Amino acid sequence: MPTFQLIVLNHPKRLTKLIDKFRRSFLWTGLENCSGGRCLVKWSMETTPELFKHSRKKEILVADALEDSQWISNLKTNPSYAVLQQFVWLYQKLQHIELNPHSDDSVTWKMSASGTFSASFAYHIQFAGSIHSPLENVVWKPQIPMKCKFFNWVALHGKCLTTENLAKRGWPHNLICSLCRTSNETADHLLLHCSFSAEFWRRILINFNLPPPSVLVPDCSLLSWRLASLDAIPNPAREKWNILQMLHSWFTWKERNNRVFNAKACSIDDLLQSLSEELHLWRSAGLKATKWVDPP
Ligand SMILES: [Zn+2]
Repeated sequence: MPTFQLIVLNHPKRLTKLIDKFRRSFLWTGLENCSGGRCLVKWSMETTPELFKHSRKKEILVADALEDSQWISNLKTNPSYAVLQQFVWLYQKLQHIELNPHSDDSVTWKMSASGTFSASFAYHIQFAGSIHSPLENVVWKPQIPMKCKFFNWVALHGKCLTTENLAKRGWPHNLICSLCRTSNETADHLLLHCSFSAEFWRRILINFNLPPPSVLVPDCSLLSWRLASLDAIPNPAREKWNILQMLHSWFTWKERNNRVFNAKACSIDDLLQSLSEELHLWRSAGLKATKWVDPP
């Protein structure tokens, strides 16, 4: 019966089941009827790949394989240790399986308790075992340009190419921080502990009417400091503080690169001016996250 007729007519459920039975039978056997065990053994796809290689009949049906334990007599001689291990595992699994010759084969999806496939469930199964990152809201949620987000993500994990990381790769580098010239350059130093960087941050807070920076604990990492500081700041200033901190890291990094690769240095006043202009550009572009920026 054409599909569109099935859509408009109020047909009985029994008819749907009958059609589905024909469809399933054709799928498994190409005939009008089929019973349990018509599918091929797919041990190679499961957890017995060595056992599958050792079998003489790789296209055997489940029903045939289980009848009088034919799958065992189809195995080649001289099994390896891996084959024996998989044989014992499979043998134990099959002890509790009984095929019902009067029941139809059906396709089920093992990942859900109901055995029913859904696109939604398949999507969520991709995240099984994943770990929730506390940086989801800190780095990715703010509506600001991606290049700034990506840099902060890398920097907060200590992975930007500071001289510390260049040294790990054996690449040419100068260990000394190009901003303060007093300490070795690491991501935590450059973006948090460096005297130049700290002064730049202090000036940003003043310029944008935020409370002064808290006292830094020596050796505190940029990541733990950023998360702890954000927790301590009440809304609505939190989002503003976070965006300014992301910009601070990004502009500090750009200044570092300017000094290393172009031998040019900007003052903190220059950097502050560039940062303000960048914020005005974002606001002009309609980024809601920067609505607190005063119009130029
Ligand atoms: Zn420094």
